[in-house]
Amino acid sequence: MINYREVLTKKEECGIVGIALARGNAALPIFYALYALQHRGQESAGIAVSVSAGEDNGKGSETSKYTRNIPLIKGMGFVYEVFDHPRLESLKGNIGIGHVRYSTTGASAVENAEPLLVNYQRGKIAIAHNGNLVNTAELRRELERDGRVFHSDTDTEVIAHLLAKELVRHDPIEAVKELMKRVIGSYSLVILLNNILIAVRDPLGIKPLCLGEIRDENGKRGYIIASESPAIDMLGGVLMRDVRPGEILIVKGEDLESHQLYRGKNTAHCVFEYIYFARADSVLDGQLVYDVRMKIGKRLAEECGVEADIVSPVPDSGITFAIGYAKRAGLDYMEGFIKNRYVGRTFIMPEKASRDTAVRLKLNVVQANVEGKRIVLVDDSIVRGTTSRRIVDNLRKKGAKEVHMRIGSPPIIAPCYLGINTPTRDELLASNRNLDEICAFLHADSIGYLSMKGLIDSVGIAASNLCLGCLTEKYPVEIPGEVCIARQLKLTQF
Ligand code: AMP
Repeated sequence: MINYREVLTKKEECGIVGIALARGNAALPIFYALYALQHRGQESAGIAVSVSAGEDNGKGSETSKYTRNIPLIKGMGFVYEVFDHPRLESLKGNIGIGHVRYSTTGASAVENAEPLLVNYQRGKIAIAHNGNLVNTAELRRELERDGRVFHSDTDTEVIAHLLAKELVRHDPIEAVKELMKRVIGSYSLVILLNNILIAVRDPLGIKPLCLGEIRDENGKRGYIIASESPAIDMLGGVLMRDVRPGEILIVKGEDLESHQLYRGKNTAHCVFEYIYFARADSVLDGQLVYDVRMKIGKRLAEECGVEADIVSPVPDSGITFAIGYAKRAGLDYMEGFIKNRYVGRTFIMPEKASRDTAVRLKLNVVQANVEGKRIVLVDDSIVRGTTSRRIVDNLRKKGAKEVHMRIGSPPIIAPCYLGINTPTRDELLASNRNLDEICAFLHADSIGYLSMKGLIDSVGIAASNLCLGCLTEKYPVEIPGEVCIARQLKLTQF
């Protein structure tokens, strides 16, 4: 049986990138791509590189292929804190992977930073993972019984061990196929397997992953696989498409191979990526996040408009929603707060006290804009409600006459087990309170949430193809003690 508590404690949000260039070093473009994905994780960063097959002047014999070195540098902090010029220069190889990590529960340690590098019988594997497995505890116990030793407490290490085990018996594609039979949950992966770059997206496509084309300095074609499309834009590349749910991509030299290993009747794209997590300039599974958020803002004004003088966002998360709301309501959009852009996301601070300080550090009220005004305060979501309440209080202290909170998502009522850091039900403001109680907790004059239909219409993807677990308490995979809406998967031939 899966230990419920263990499942609950491992939650990670991350950004990943894999780059294959025809020639030259991949470390610098990976560094830039990680910069573009920094919002997905600020706790640690890492890059691993290798020399692709055919790029090593014939030295890529079977033996050298198996003993290949995969240089890796990782550390705690922002991308620019972990890497400087000499470090990037030291990473020699035309293919590579990178990772930014963001975890919450205790495990903020360098041994959990990625990419994770392991040796196996025929060489080395480096893995970067975005997502969260829900059967980690069970798989880990099984692997430990087999005598395998773990150095971190990440689910990524479980993936690495399972893959290493399968690679002894199978070729890479078959090994990944076997791996996918065992792991349950969300996983977008980029992997260096000796001298080949592999990308995998879980059969439900829970976490995003996209594919783009880039050119090296001599104009030769290369590939980038990244969590979000701005990483491709950053390198002057072209977004080709999303990696398909259940697909594996293999980059060998200049060749890109695709194999559809699993095909499901439905997908389960994480709706919270559209609401909060992804950048507004990302195109996720065919939808520009900016458009989705504008639509949500407009819909919010239609569904729960209120008499007011100005519309103000909670920066930055509420901005696009507030612009949409103001447009539809015919009200002035004004900034009630100015954000100090040099403070990281407050959620990464583990202690309550430091979160309080972080909010004060982060947002300052523009008194002249709010004094004597009736304000529609727009944000994307409410989690614990503690930040929102502090923000409402601060507006009132500076003379706001009324504060009406409008939220660009339905109430978050349940935890996420699949990669977004949402707390347990006890800590979620909306999990056991009605609207009046929520409004009272926030010290607001009124509260309005987007309807579920409003959300689905705005995202433009059918509910049956989204993961709405945090909003509906119904999850696309089996989690002990929770309701599962089974998604049909079947193994396809390739
Ligand atoms: P609170 O009022 O404490 O619930 O905080 C709400 C704020 O947290 C909103 O501005 C959201 O944009 C932001 N938020 C929502 N989900 C997350 C998350 N998983 N990690 C960090 N911040 C989040």
